Formats: sequence, C-alpha cells, structure tokens
Amino acid sequence: MSDENSIVEDTFLSSREGGAGAIDLRSDTVTRPTAGMYRRMLEAPLGDDGLDGDPTAEELEALASLVLGMEAGLFVPTCTMANLLAVLTQAGRGDPVLLDHGAHIYNTERGSSTLTGVCMRTLPGTGGMMDLTVLEETLALELGRSSNALVCLETSHNSSGGAILPLPYLHTVRQMANASGARVHLDGARLFNASAAMNEPPSTITRNFDTASICLSKGLSAPAGAVLCGSAETIGKARQWRKILGGTQRQVGVVAAAGIEALDVMRHRLSEDNARALRLSEAINSAAIAVCANEPQTNIVQLDVSRTGRSSDRWVDALDRAGLKVRPINPRSLRCVTHRHIDDAAIERAAEIVLSLDDACAP
Ligand SMILES: *Cc1c(COP(=O)(O)O)cnc(C)c1O
Repeated sequence: MSDENSIVEDTFLSSREGGAGAIDLRSDTVTRPTAGMYRRMLEAPLGDDGLDGDPTAEELEALASLVLGMEAGLFVPTCTMANLLAVLTQAGRGDPVLLDHGAHIYNTERGSSTLTGVCMRTLPGTGGMMDLTVLEETLALELGRSSNALVCLETSHNSSGGAILPLPYLHTVRQMANASGARVHLDGARLFNASAAMNEPPSTITRNFDTASICLSKGLSAPAGAVLCGSAETIGKARQWRKILGGTQRQVGVVAAAGIEALDVMRHRLSEDNARALRLSEAINSAAIAVCANEPQTNIVQLDVSRTGRSSDRWVDALDRAGLKVRPINPRSLRCVTHRHIDDAAIERAAEIVLSLDDACAP
C-alpha cells in the first residue's frame, strides 16, 4: 500500500515539476505518465523483444491491432519511426509517395525523404485534404512510371489546427488508391482525438488504410512509444526494418505497459481535451481585438497574431512572462495544444492572459 501511495505521490509531484503555475500549451507531448501506468509498469511480465519476444510488448501490439481492426501491430519508440517503417515496407527506391503539402511526415519528420530513396510528391489541398482531382491525375501519372505507390494521409491533421478528415473523403481516397493499385497509410499520431471528435470508433477510420500509426506519448500520456498496425505480412517486414533502424529494444515491456494503459483507459478521455480547445478558441474570439483563433475540431488551437503588430516570437516571450507557454508555428501564428494537465480553470486563465496582452498592444 505504502509503495503504491508513494508511486502515486511521485506522479503527482512530477506532474507539477517546473510548473510554478505556468500553463503549458506547447504540446500534448508534455503529459506525464499516470499512476495507472506506473502500476502496470511495475507488474509487467518482461522478456527480450529482440530475442524471443517481450510478452507485454506483444500484449500492447495485439491490443492496438484490435482497436484499429488490423491484423498485426509493432511497438516502436516513436511515431516518427512508425511512419518511416510504413514507407520502407510499402514503397521502394523511386516509388512515389503522395502526401498533402502540410503533411507532418514530409515537413517535420523527413526521414522517408532523406533516407529511403522514395520519390515524395506533395499535393495541394486544404485542411489536410489533398485535392482529389490532382490526386487522381498524379496517381495515374506516377503509376505510369512505377508499379508501386503509397498515399499518406494524416488525421487529426497537425499543421491544419487539428483538422479531421471526414469519412467520405477517406473512402474516396481509398477507392482511388485501390483502383490504381496504390496503398494508403494513415499517420494517426492523434487518431484518437479525431475518433473522439467524430464520435466514431477508431477502426471505422482505419478500415480505409493498409497501415496506420498511432502515438502513445501525446494526449494518451504514455512516456514514450508508438505502434504501427497493418497486415501480418507488412508488419513482419516492418519488424525486420525496425531492427535495421536500431528500434528493437529489449525489456521494452516496461514502456509498453504504459501504452496498454494509454489504449485501455486514456484514449477514452480525449473528448475533454477537444472540448477545452474549443472553449479556449471561443473565449479568445468572443473578446479579442486583434488575435484570432481557429475553430478547432480537436485539441489544437491556432492563434493568428498577424494583426497585433507583434511577431509570434515576441508573443511567445510575452505570454511566457505572463505564465502561459505556447509555440510559434510561423511569424504570424501560434499553436496551443490542450491535454490532460489543462483543466477548465487553466483554459479560462490562458484566455485571460492572451486577452490581456492583446489589449496591451492593440492600436
Ligand atoms: C507528433 C507527430 C508525429 C511523430 O510522433 P513522435 O512520437 O513524436 O515521433 C507524427 N505525426 C504527427 C501528425 C504528429 O503530430
């Protein structure tokens, strides 16, 4: 009992570390492991995941593939690696990989363009949705040059302020890809935020894909880890590539145990984060003079500061001094991400801080 209490207490204390009252909206990656995660970590049966398997990693992989309605799963250190493995296993040298121009895989991760020899093509679109006419034309053109193609989508869509891709769009992309023999991968780092916002089970989204990645260490609060899901054949190949990339870990069940708690328990609370993001946006838009917030579908609020006379870097510094941490997206906008450590009071306070500074610099 006392052991467990001290673990819970440590969790509580660590979640307040570095706080000094600051509200941290930089990212949902700042979330700390829960007491339930620490409990599972202590009790997890362990093996050697590079030798004859780790039972807890296997349990997580089975759970993830069940939740996503896919045949198999592979535990990896990061969602970046999961996405890289999706490309490595489904596109070879010179094969086209088609993504929308705002894709995290293309703009932020860059592994598949730097390391693989695939031919990445970004397509125009809005809200994370590639223009379908351009996609169809590009698929036809590219498949004249190569026998393989991979289309990558992302939901929720990070750089589009957490936008979700509607089911009919996913279905159409799936059919276009099928018709031309291309595969489709989902960068689902925040799939469960999208699933909560759509009020649809995750498998209804992922049934339109050959492979899907999920990140366990964002809103789901695990300390690390991601899972790539797909057919047994593709995941078998991904397992070999993971070894080559140095992503095979040994008693990794210690970390995978937290991932099980993430999928079992934590994914069911993400609608709270989505709702608080909307509340933040409404509180700012209903009062702001110059700052303008997007209307978030999930847990990412983008603030347009272009009419305030201050660059986003200056906003970041000023907000930080006032006790609110956010990140710049570009010189004109900021990003605020809600998560488990942000409650209703923190949202109200965050809005107040933004508004007070907005007032201060209004003409
Ligand atoms: C964060 C993120 C990733 C990468 O996740 P890591 O686990 O941090 O490597 C991939 N795709 C999207 C859309 C993300 O937001």
